[in-house]
Amino acid sequence: MTTSPRIAIVGGGPGGLMLARLLHGRGIAATVFERDAHAGARPQGGSLDLHPDTGQRAMRRAGLEAAFRAAARPEDQGDRLHDPDGVLLFDRDGAGDDRPEIDRTVLRRILLDALAPGTVRWGCAVAAITPAPDGRYRIGWRGGAEIFDIVVGADGAWSRVRPLLSDVVPAYEGVTLVEFGFDAHRHPLVDDLVGGGKMMAVGDCRALIAQRNGHGHIRAYAMRRMPEAAAHGLAVASPRAVRAAMMEVFAGWAPALRYLVERGDLIAVRALHALPIGYRWPGRPGVTLLGDAAHLMSPFGGEGANLALADAADLADALGDGTGWPAVARYEAAMVARATPAAAGAAAGLRGAIAPDALAGVLEHYRGRVGV
Ligand SMILES: Cc1cc2nc3c(=O)[nH]c(=O)nc-3n(C[C@H](O)[C@H](O)[C@H](O)COP(=O)(O)OP(=O)(O)OC[C@H]3O[C@@H](n4cnc5c(N)ncnc54)[C@H](O)[C@@H]3O)c2cc1C
Repeated sequence: MTTSPRIAIVGGGPGGLMLARLLHGRGIAATVFERDAHAGARPQGGSLDLHPDTGQRAMRRAGLEAAFRAAARPEDQGDRLHDPDGVLLFDRDGAGDDRPEIDRTVLRRILLDALAPGTVRWGCAVAAITPAPDGRYRIGWRGGAEIFDIVVGADGAWSRVRPLLSDVVPAYEGVTLVEFGFDAHRHPLVDDLVGGGKMMAVGDCRALIAQRNGHGHIRAYAMRRMPEAAAHGLAVASPRAVRAAMMEVFAGWAPALRYLVERGDLIAVRALHALPIGYRWPGRPGVTLLGDAAHLMSPFGGEGANLALADAADLADALGDGTGWPAVARYEAAMVARATPAAAGAAAGLRGAIAPDALAGVLEHYRGRVGV
């Protein structure tokens, strides 16, 4: 008699939850270890657009397309570009695009509702994964440990699973962003500025981006190039000091743009990091990665969550096809091949948008997308 391997998925982000759902659909049980205490323990972040070949494909495979369509916001796919004086240079409503937006919290809820009860172990921050003498792996967290045959690292940028495969860690990309939140009804100026989707203003190695989320929320990101030490300083500064520093960064910009920094609720300071483009690791039976743990990249390009979902779909196929670890090795090669151009695009997007001459390049990019 053969028994199914015991599979541990470390991380209950979009990638880890999608993998658990797809394995469950194939009759394979998996346990998701998630450090959040519960599903609502922290805000999951801004809106995501799911792309047809990656994020949407995975949702279809998981039987969740109808739930996604019901919750998605196809009306929020527009793009606007302003110069630092607030002049609107580009404006399209995105009608006819097939990249509907969905809030991360809503996406997480759809995936969680599709899992068997007890699949996710909440409040389990995995601290150590140790190879056992019999070729299996011991997963340890504060107050417990368990043995698994297969460990999937779906635990994002600072993965605890990745060190089993290589010493590579993400590097700072030279740009830090400060995230702000708005209630659109209380801030009609921001509501108007954003339009039906996302607005961007760029110039002189800095940028402001604001994006419509569901339920009347808008998120804004103020970013600039800065040395890593300055980013560390900002991360530990008081909210008041962070706002004052960013107001100084955007001194001289149009008042309507500065309003984003002046009036938003401060959510977080994020120094952008990325893994090396094309990162791969020597194969190790029993351990693999997906999503940001495998190919962390800058958010420019909007591919990260989409790739995590697509990785989950392909890894579920590999784990379920019954041919053993060679199928997972093929998954890894295909995943790297898919992520490499996306990571190169994200790095180029970041370089181009946070640059002295960003405006011309970003305008050309937007015009190129609509063929004008
Ligand atoms: C500002 C910003 C905007 C973005 N915009 C977009 C966008 O528009 N479109 C897009 O596709 N992508 C976007 N991304 C990227 C996207 O957020 C990520 O690529 C995506 O969330 C990766 O999914 P994941 O499942 O691999 O990892 P994550 O979403 O990082 O999930 C990892 C999970 O693992 C858990 N975890 C971590 N360590 C442990 C541990 N030791 N033990 C247990 N659990 C652990 C975490 O709590 C988390 O729930 C953006 C990113 C940022 C920063």
